[in-house]
Amino acid sequence: MLREEDRFFYIWDKNKQMARINENYLKLQAGYLFPEIGRRVREFQKENPQADVIKMGIGDVTRPLVPAVIRAFHEGVEEMSGVDTFKGYGPEQGYDFLRKAIVQNEYTNRGADIHADEVFISDGSKCDTGNILEIFGQQNIIAVQDPVYPVYVDTSVMAGRTGKFTEKGTYDGLVYMPCTAENNFIPEIPSEKVDIVFLCYPNNPTGTTAGKMELKKWVDYALEHKTVILFDAAYEAYISDREIPHSIYEIEGAREVAIEFRSFSKTAGFTGTRCAYIVIPKSLMASTGDGEVKPLHSLWFRRHTTKFNGVSYPVQKAAAAIYSQEGKKEVRETIQYYMNNARVLRESLSKLGFWVYGGVNSPYVWVNSGRGIKSWDLFDKLLNEAHVVGTPGSGFGPSGEGYFRFSSFATHENVLKAMERLNNLKW
Ligand SMILES: *Cc1c(COP(=O)(O)O)cnc(C)c1O
Repeated sequence: MLREEDRFFYIWDKNKQMARINENYLKLQAGYLFPEIGRRVREFQKENPQADVIKMGIGDVTRPLVPAVIRAFHEGVEEMSGVDTFKGYGPEQGYDFLRKAIVQNEYTNRGADIHADEVFISDGSKCDTGNILEIFGQQNIIAVQDPVYPVYVDTSVMAGRTGKFTEKGTYDGLVYMPCTAENNFIPEIPSEKVDIVFLCYPNNPTGTTAGKMELKKWVDYALEHKTVILFDAAYEAYISDREIPHSIYEIEGAREVAIEFRSFSKTAGFTGTRCAYIVIPKSLMASTGDGEVKPLHSLWFRRHTTKFNGVSYPVQKAAAAIYSQEGKKEVRETIQYYMNNARVLRESLSKLGFWVYGGVNSPYVWVNSGRGIKSWDLFDKLLNEAHVVGTPGSGFGPSGEGYFRFSSFATHENVLKAMERLNNLKW
């Protein structure tokens, strides 16, 4: 600790001033959602050591990597042990074999016009959605859905794109677009012009989807207002309805306005293995202050090749294996396992009188008690009386108040047990 007089001296003597922190970090809210859930669960467990707590809160997968992926992973490791097959630094943008498999299976086969050199392999969409702001000017107005995946908001705060946190539970300077049952969880087009908009479909936390018409409305808005859409499709693999687009590039005009984030985390259980990608079409432009038009692809290319040295070779090989015939089949089975959980959640919670959304083309089931119970009160009730942990909707933004998220990333036995316990509660 500095004494008061020394502190004055430090401030006064420029040559002895301390290094300065990025004060944007001080704007961040301390009681972040998942640590707060963890704290309440630990406290409960300390007082009730016998209780068998079922966790359906955090969005992490629980099923192991499928055999086709494990086999490729092992092969990749084996190759690293031979002098002729050893790999050092790989291409920063990712190995061709993986980018080509992605383009063929995720885009070409769905009629979306995306090329392998527009795909950048990374170690996760969390990093990608946070880092992407680096290639955009500081003056852009950013819009987010409310409720929202907290990463978009917190990284905007860290990057100095917002003002202070306010009593309303929002940051000044960010545009929040409410997504509630009233608008089918699809945000209205904002009345003011926004420069960058984060959209996430199938949505985390609401588990709801956007159809072609709804996405077209956003692409048209972006074309007209020169807005860039940052489209997070981390849960596209959970879509079973044929009418729902998996990619924003299935919408005409999206190559001119959208960046897409995809991840193998929820698709194939890579949350601990780490592999994702970002797509930036070469036709996507933004301008300098002087109105000169530049492709965003070349900026990200520069950023990625300067600050990133690629994802490990065995991991990329493992990721590519999800596109093999067995890989596809096995991954589908894992997803069906979770979707069967989602079905049970939907049916049981509806029977209990909850208003139930999502959980059809997404692993998340978003509910409202319909009894005016606040999100954290429902959290405490479920934890204390049923020993079931979910996620309070208000933790994702003010429009999430009253809602609650159940995740189907649990064992089927636990889902059944949890729903049985809810069924026995007094409401
Ligand atoms: C889980 C998740 C991701 C994936 O993050 P990774 O860093 O790739 O594991 C991205 N976006 C949303 C909305 C998610 O829920």
